[in-house]
Amino acid sequence: MSHYGDSLDRRQFLKTTAAGIGAMAAAAHAADPAPSSEKPKVDPKDLIWRSKSPDMSYVRLGRTNFMVSRIVSGLGGKAGNQTNIWPRELARGINYFDTARGYGNSEVNMKEFLKEYRKDLWVTSKASNIAGYAKIDDEVRKLYVAAMKAYLGSQKFDEVAGKDSEKGDLLRYHNAAVEKEKATGEKPDLRAAGKRMAEMYLRQLDESLTRLGTDHVDAYFMHGVEIPWIFDCIEVWEAFEKANKAGKAKHFGFSTHTHQKEVLAAAAAANERGPWKIDLIMPGVNPESFVRLRPELEALKKQDVGIVAMKTKGIVNRPVNVDEKKFSDLMEARKYNEWERAKLYMLHLTDGLIDAAIIAIESMEELDKDVPLATVHLSASARRQLEAIVKLETAGACHLCGDCTTHCPEHIAVTDMIRYHAYLHQYNDRDLARELYQQAGYDPARLCNSCGKCADVCGSKVPIVELLHELSHDMA
Ligand code: SF4
Ligand code: SF4
Repeated sequence: MSHYGDSLDRRQFLKTTAAGIGAMAAAAHAADPAPSSEKPKVDPKDLIWRSKSPDMSYVRLGRTNFMVSRIVSGLGGKAGNQTNIWPRELARGINYFDTARGYGNSEVNMKEFLKEYRKDLWVTSKASNIAGYAKIDDEVRKLYVAAMKAYLGSQKFDEVAGKDSEKGDLLRYHNAAVEKEKATGEKPDLRAAGKRMAEMYLRQLDESLTRLGTDHVDAYFMHGVEIPWIFDCIEVWEAFEKANKAGKAKHFGFSTHTHQKEVLAAAAAANERGPWKIDLIMPGVNPESFVRLRPELEALKKQDVGIVAMKTKGIVNRPVNVDEKKFSDLMEARKYNEWERAKLYMLHLTDGLIDAAIIAIESMEELDKDVPLATVHLSASARRQLEAIVKLETAGACHLCGDCTTHCPEHIAVTDMIRYHAYLHQYNDRDLARELYQQAGYDPARLCNSCGKCADVCGSKVPIVELLHELSHDMA
């Protein structure tokens, strides 16, 4: 028997009868919150069901037609090593497991699990460090910068590049290119950068499949896209199509941590003009940034794209406030911490725009607390109270807009550093923070000249420089 075998749990959920499936499908629709935009009509026989539990609620994950558990298991950080918990998660109705090349050994760790349960779940993985996550691939960066130099001309290029063209935020070139394209109708030649990204995507996909021990993933993502121009690189889309035809990846998706607004808008535009067909996205969206990102999320939802929210609490802790007690009373004294309240908000207060929320589950206790979040009932006054609490709690949270990175004259990847700080201090994942920090290859506190430009553009008033110094100290 596999060391994953909790055969009792497994039998319980796999022994679902046809009648049971119908009943649960109905229950899932009933639990599905009303969306702000009209839902596409889908023949129930086209819906894809994997494992399910009456204790979980399920929604159709956009045009993938997959009935996703509203809680998705994220295998970043320590959760990627908790192999003993995964069968339990499955038994509790979680039917989507998300991993990435960049999540330590999680892909390899999944191999045994998938051997037994592959048919019962949806699994996605990601190509990391091509278009972002810890870094943009050096060669991609070089090829893109060269393309921009050729396109913008030396004078404009030097003006945009600032003190070092090889470093820093690529959004500055993108914005300049968009301006020129609007004025002239000419487009930059991004084929070389596109070819490099496409090759890396396909190579990483093959490596992920080998590590996972499966012949296909349900979606293969670009991890942490922070460059909107990726959707001008048709080579990347063609690479996915090739993988799709070979049966290796069913859907294309991406996650994003930086410049989310620009990246999401570019994705919606790419879907609009085709041939791109991005089926699934994972934005880092919290109750505060939800408002800011709402137009782009709505545009993608109208295109019937599946949306799984991550980093739902934002990445700076806020003090709790008096509303918390009122909310607890309304919930019959059930206590939710700030992470759980943020998840409740994203699952139940976003007008159906968010299909599911990703959670890194690190213990059985967490699993027991997290699963009921999907089906919790909130009265109108509890909804109001919850809204008041999380808005206050996340008001000063970093919403990963990337503006600080764009404006840093020292080309520090500020947004990434803030994220690594959060991995260390909020997610308690020193290994992940250290791994990503070391990949950056420099000490941000040493490079920082305290010019304050990041603080000027940060709408959330995140204490950026202090966080950089703290990170630098912690990583020394
Ligand atoms: S500008 Fe502020 S909110 Fe935006 S990424 Fe930087 S720290 Fe976060
Ligand atoms: S204060 Fe430091 S991190 Fe902020 S913009 Fe200036 S150099 Fe960059």
